[in-house]
Amino acid sequence: MNGDRSIAAKQKPRVITPGLLVLNQWVLQTRPANPLSWWTRRKPLSRHFGEERTEDGGVEPQWWMSHSPDGRSVSSTDWQHPPDTARKLNLNGLHLSAAVPKITPLLVHFQEAFCPKKGTYDYHWSPMKAVRIHQFGGPEVLTYEDVPDPKLRKDQVLVRVRACAMNHLDLFVRRGLPGVNLPHILGSDIAGEIVEVGEYVTRLKPQQRVLVAPMHFCNHCPKCVAGLQNQCREFTVLGNAVDGGNCELIALPAVNVIPIPDALDFNQAASVPLVFVTAWHMLTGRAAIRPGQTVLILGANSGVGIAAIQIAKMFNARVITTAGDDHKIEAARELGADYVINHYQQKISQEVRKITNFEGVDIVLEHVGAATWDESVKSLKAAGSLVTCGATTGPKVELDLRFLFSRQLSLLGSYMGTMSELNEVLSHVFAGRLKPVIDHIFPLKDIRIAHEYMEKSQMFGKIVLNP
Ligand SMILES: [Zn+2]
Repeated sequence: MNGDRSIAAKQKPRVITPGLLVLNQWVLQTRPANPLSWWTRRKPLSRHFGEERTEDGGVEPQWWMSHSPDGRSVSSTDWQHPPDTARKLNLNGLHLSAAVPKITPLLVHFQEAFCPKKGTYDYHWSPMKAVRIHQFGGPEVLTYEDVPDPKLRKDQVLVRVRACAMNHLDLFVRRGLPGVNLPHILGSDIAGEIVEVGEYVTRLKPQQRVLVAPMHFCNHCPKCVAGLQNQCREFTVLGNAVDGGNCELIALPAVNVIPIPDALDFNQAASVPLVFVTAWHMLTGRAAIRPGQTVLILGANSGVGIAAIQIAKMFNARVITTAGDDHKIEAARELGADYVINHYQQKISQEVRKITNFEGVDIVLEHVGAATWDESVKSLKAAGSLVTCGATTGPKVELDLRFLFSRQLSLLGSYMGTMSELNEVLSHVFAGRLKPVIDHIFPLKDIRIAHEYMEKSQMFGKIVLNP
């Protein structure tokens, strides 16, 4: 595998920057008689996606470079073969003959010294790098390795992953969940650049900066057509029952790909989708939050907690939250929480009673599970709603039915959200009313360290991986 990789790397065309593109275009198009034009005979580097018939009548998708060293089109399979040294050198899309060896290193130096990588034509070493698990277990099962590039369907978009944020789901999938086929690529929250769009995709174009809706759904059943994607029978979170974004390239249905504004960098964008759509669906879609209500949000430092505090404040709710140390308590206040309970030193329901003058809260937002369940139920006011999206500390809880009916409580389950809700909450993120919070950024190859870091639960905000 390594041998193939080094050959592919040698053959890999270098990225070309806008600056050199302009120079090349200028020489080619506006100054045909320019003496330099004798060595710039080709158009700028470009590539597209095509198909090739296989022997058994199937269709084999192929990357095509329009300019190989000898000027003909070559497919991605050709890249795997050693270069013909008799061919002319292909550098930065300019085809230089061997007669200009002194200019070549000069151009390379110029590009690497002065041209920013951003906005360059995007190439990667084939095969791509990804983190996969081949068995369930601890962080040691995470393997950073070569994986075949994804194949793009005509209705899909190929995204170069620039950032992938972690969620507790990553830990659960790694330890083992039903429905996960091995080997498996983790990662739900993706931001990156479009490399290529399939033939049927008209709304998006290469080089657009995007984030990915972290959900998989069929997009044609009655529930999907009604906009209730999270009730689709095929619904799952990206990186759960389907491969996710801990990799360099991912092919996705166009419906999942959402352009992002320039103000949002890739790490910020990757920190948004899953937790913000989850918190939005919990508070607006399930618990029907109204201005002025009092909301108890468990775990201020979690991704869902950080999103929920901001969303509840946007609805002018009174927010009570919980945190485990002074640093997190201060950070929760900065996000807008009105009251922060130290859940290691104080009893949550007692503090809630004091804060609400013995009334209780309208809504409890739960995702902690067994460790906080009793306190959460006791914190509700009469006819209050408890909405839950997770069970980080365990799924089995007790419930006194007499308390449930006599207090007329509502217990609501919530699973991620719909595309409509994602777009709605993103509009607030893009406008700056809701802000992602990043705790730490790791290189993707340090995936095991990142998982160990998350398991210690010391973070306030998202852990982001950079391929
Ligand atoms: Zn469906």
